[in-house]
Amino acid sequence: MFRTALIATALAVVATPSTVAAGAEDDAVRELADAAAELVAEEQTLVATAATDPTASTARLRVVDGTGSMVLEQFDELGVQLTAASRAVLSPLPAQGQGFAPPSQVYDAALDDLMRISATPAAALPTETGSNGPALGLLAVAAMSLLVLGAAALANSLRRRESDDELAAMAWSDGLTGLANRRRLDHDIASHDIDDPVAVIMVDVDNFKSVNDRFGHQEGDEILRRVASMLSAHVRYDDVVYRYGGEEFCIMLPGATEDDARGVADRVLEAARTIVLPDQTNLTISVGVARTDDVEATDVATTVETADKALIAAKTAGRDRIVDATSIELSPA
Ligand code: GH3
Ligand code: MG
Ligand code: MG
Repeated sequence: MFRTALIATALAVVATPSTVAAGAEDDAVRELADAAAELVAEEQTLVATAATDPTASTARLRVVDGTGSMVLEQFDELGVQLTAASRAVLSPLPAQGQGFAPPSQVYDAALDDLMRISATPAAALPTETGSNGPALGLLAVAAMSLLVLGAAALANSLRRRESDDELAAMAWSDGLTGLANRRRLDHDIASHDIDDPVAVIMVDVDNFKSVNDRFGHQEGDEILRRVASMLSAHVRYDDVVYRYGGEEFCIMLPGATEDDARGVADRVLEAARTIVLPDQTNLTISVGVARTDDVEATDVATTVETADKALIAAKTAGRDRIVDATSIELSPA
């Protein structure tokens, strides 16, 4: 529903970039406020659920929270004036154990604010002095890009909601990290369309057995949670991070080019080194990268295996590095 509305509005704005109707940016703001209100209401519910059942809705909350911060960026790009309550609830939630979600009254206040914006979008926009010429043109470009972004983000979150609902009963998320679990990976692999190219990044924490041995299993768990949030924070919006098993993770990057995949791999390798262990040494990870496009007509399951082989090559070569499957000799299965 939102997706269609957002795309329609985005297209309307694109169609008339220089002679944008005075109402077009109002519509853009209204759509955004409506989308934000839906997200805020859902986050409010999820936060309340999380308080009584900490594992139930973590994955969904993460998606809603992430989409909320994208919407906030879009409001900011447009110069929409939001109240502190709206800002607070659209901003990223604090990481687990590092603070509290805003109380319910703040969500209520934000919803009032967003309804007000939706009702009178013009009042929330910065007042332009002079003619509506160039300023509106610029605004139209901003509105266009943010709506395209917003449409993609919302479509994604709706898609995930459908699949979340469908398999809610099947424990899709990993209890320790809140990431999608292996079962979900198997499902996603099985339902993947062979025509859609995808990149796969496999990540394995280096010498993790020794982390457990030195600092204890509980500290080990905490470090795995930090690795999980680090990975989630560094992937692109459409990418999905899975806990593959133990201290190994898998990232699916739909439509990623070689450069996209390499960029994500570089970022996570770098970010892992900033995770400091209790003895002040730094954690490292090894990374394997493969793409369905590397070999003609390769399915995702094979690509995951290939990325895993690249990961093993990274281990053999000394850990704390990235190996791309295209650079290694792959023995036939
Ligand atoms: P390498 O660099 O070759 O990957 O060495 P490694 O020590 O990381 O690899 P290995 O496979 O020998 O050990 C993995 C360790 O991860 C052993 C296991 O106890 C630990 N592990 C797996 N799952 C969990 C978990 O959920 N919590 C904790 N704390 N440890 C885990
Ligand atoms: Mg390991
Ligand atoms: Mg391992």
